[in-house]
Amino acid sequence: MDRLTIRRPDDWHVHFRDGPMLNVVVPWTARQFGRAIVMPNLTPPITTISAATAYRERILAAVEGNSGFIPLMTYYLTDTADIHEITKGHAEGAFFAVKFYPAGATTNSDAGVTEVKNVMHVFERMEKIGMPLLVHGEVTSPDVDVFDREAIYIEQVLSPIVREFPSLKIVFEHVTTKEAVDFVHARSSEAPGCMAATITAHHLVINRSDMFKGGIRPHLYCLPIAKRESHRLALRAAATSGSTSFFLGSDTAPHTRNAKESACGCAGIFSAPIALEKYMQVFDEENALVNFEAFASLNGPKFYGLSCNQETITLERGDADPPESVKTYEDEMIRVFEGGEPTTWRLT
Ligand SMILES: [Zn+2]
Repeated sequence: MDRLTIRRPDDWHVHFRDGPMLNVVVPWTARQFGRAIVMPNLTPPITTISAATAYRERILAAVEGNSGFIPLMTYYLTDTADIHEITKGHAEGAFFAVKFYPAGATTNSDAGVTEVKNVMHVFERMEKIGMPLLVHGEVTSPDVDVFDREAIYIEQVLSPIVREFPSLKIVFEHVTTKEAVDFVHARSSEAPGCMAATITAHHLVINRSDMFKGGIRPHLYCLPIAKRESHRLALRAAATSGSTSFFLGSDTAPHTRNAKESACGCAGIFSAPIALEKYMQVFDEENALVNFEAFASLNGPKFYGLSCNQETITLERGDADPPESVKTYEDEMIRVFEGGEPTTWRLT
């Protein structure tokens, strides 16, 4: 197969940041994706209807002329979450979902939840109104090895939430381990429609050794951190399996080159210019192109109770010729994931 036409895909997990960077990165997502779930980890975090609505307006202003693109906004869960604001925002369409960061888990997550017991009443309400919970699935205790944080989160945090709120719709975001894949498979067979997971393009492509190939490679550092090869293979099997419980969420997360190439570099990989082509390449390598449309364009809408996009896009064999970096403001650059390297698929 040398060409594939699919329904327009959606990206169910993106970071657009704000200010001049937002204006540079949003068009890279809107160019191929119909909708995107936008993460709320700004400074200050998005915790009000007015902040979400204003942020949404800034995103739409960045894609003027691409009027089809729809950003879906999220509420940033904190210990002092306002349950009334969440309920009202969900009813009005200002908040599509709630994002749950454990405090300190990743970029701008200091305001996140310190103890799950502080937000159990929020989960109870969300279960009642059918509002999805998006989890960054890592514990943050400094005692826990960074490579074990996702697996321990399943035992210590996610399993108790699932037991307490069996009908709550949960998306286990950017899974990186075999343990997470197994958990999602098991949970979605015992309670269909209650749990799903997103998988990033970069976690399908790199393993933890790639971060140290020939020297330290700060542009491959992200959270959750890439795991060993056996986990990467489990992710590839899950994504390409045809299971409806896994769908596309790139977690594209721009930082400037200076913020990445530093004595204490930021976590995050900017993949928006190339994510779709990378996913396609993985499905091709796994002889699973037949399942690509489901993963990219159908499973997400089905889980979230939305219709799939009506338009189509076509990918063909060939080099997409991705830029090495994109320019943001003044002389700041953002390195693109595997930017400058040839790809095997491109968007027509
Ligand atoms: Zn993220």
